[in-house]
Amino acid sequence: MMTKILKINPISPEPSKIKEAAEVINRGGTVAFPTETVYGLGADALNPEAIRKVFKAKGRPPDNPLIVHISDMDTFQLVAKKPVKAAIDLINRFWPGPLTIIVKKKKIVPGIVTGGLDTVAVRMPDNKIALSLIKMAGVPLVAPSANLSGKPSPTRSRDVAADLSGKIDVIIDGGKTRIGIESTVIDMTTSPPTLLRPGGLPVEEIEKVTGPLQGFLASHESKPATSPGMKYRHYAPKARMVIIVGDSDAVQSDIMKLAEKGLKDGEKVGILAFHKEFRVKGCITKYAGSRPGTVAGRLFDILREFDKDGVDLIISEPYGGSGLKLGIADRLRRAAGLK
Ligand code: AMP
Ligand code: MG
Repeated sequence: MMTKILKINPISPEPSKIKEAAEVINRGGTVAFPTETVYGLGADALNPEAIRKVFKAKGRPPDNPLIVHISDMDTFQLVAKKPVKAAIDLINRFWPGPLTIIVKKKKIVPGIVTGGLDTVAVRMPDNKIALSLIKMAGVPLVAPSANLSGKPSPTRSRDVAADLSGKIDVIIDGGKTRIGIESTVIDMTTSPPTLLRPGGLPVEEIEKVTGPLQGFLASHESKPATSPGMKYRHYAPKARMVIIVGDSDAVQSDIMKLAEKGLKDGEKVGILAFHKEFRVKGCITKYAGSRPGTVAGRLFDILREFDKDGVDLIISEPYGGSGLKLGIADRLRRAAGLK
């Protein structure tokens, strides 16, 4: 299959190009497009044949349900039963934005979207290209991250091309995504609501509307609640990856020791640094910044760069905390296979 690259202006998307992409969706094709979080692989959420193509291109396990992306509330009512008031409050406060809510589904949503569950994940993305594509297509779109399943998510069109070129119909190039990690996922069918995945919208902002969520302990460092997709290895670079934990002096010396051992064993060693830029002779150090907004925007990019550099072992400084840091820490831990 030939994959067409469509460059579209993210500030003022050209209607003729959006129309071209929407027609591909309406013919049951696949279109990768930018959202404010990461690039998504879009297909008509009401067309099982089209959705099968998404699972196939990504190599995604069929029991990992997809998020349905909408551009207006009429479409919300088309796919979702009337949710609890707190869900409406979240929608009014945060959509369009990096928040996905789980609600009871209506019959029109095919089982292949939801992994056979009677609930559906819905989100309205905050990106002009995404919103105009959904509107022009006239249907809700599934849009899991546009990468091979298990790999770091794509924050630019070239990352999408590296993973999916030849496997999908269109890649829209709409620049770098603003946030860089995926949406926060909240199950609104439980009481209290459950945090299934920390992400681009800080949990603390959500809790101001819903009250305390279940799923993470107060420390925000415990094991997250299980959502079908969370059991899989995710965001993983080719290299082995370890996160060193402890106080900062211990971290520094443990990184040195591990790096020297790796080098002695003939490995190419990468160091992922957040808090201070330091170098170990013979290692490739990449600095993700320390402000959470900067780190979220760079993390997946850096993991992909380590792959390109042919690194065998990535040693990471610890990173975590509340707000956006919680989502970043989750991606980092999963990239390291929880090591
Ligand atoms: P992705 O599209 O890869 O960013 O991931 C979507 C996330 O939403 C995965 O972790 C899924 O398990 C989760 N998800 C989607 N639909 C549902 C649902 N109906 N119930 C619970 N989790 C869901
Ligand atoms: Mg994904």
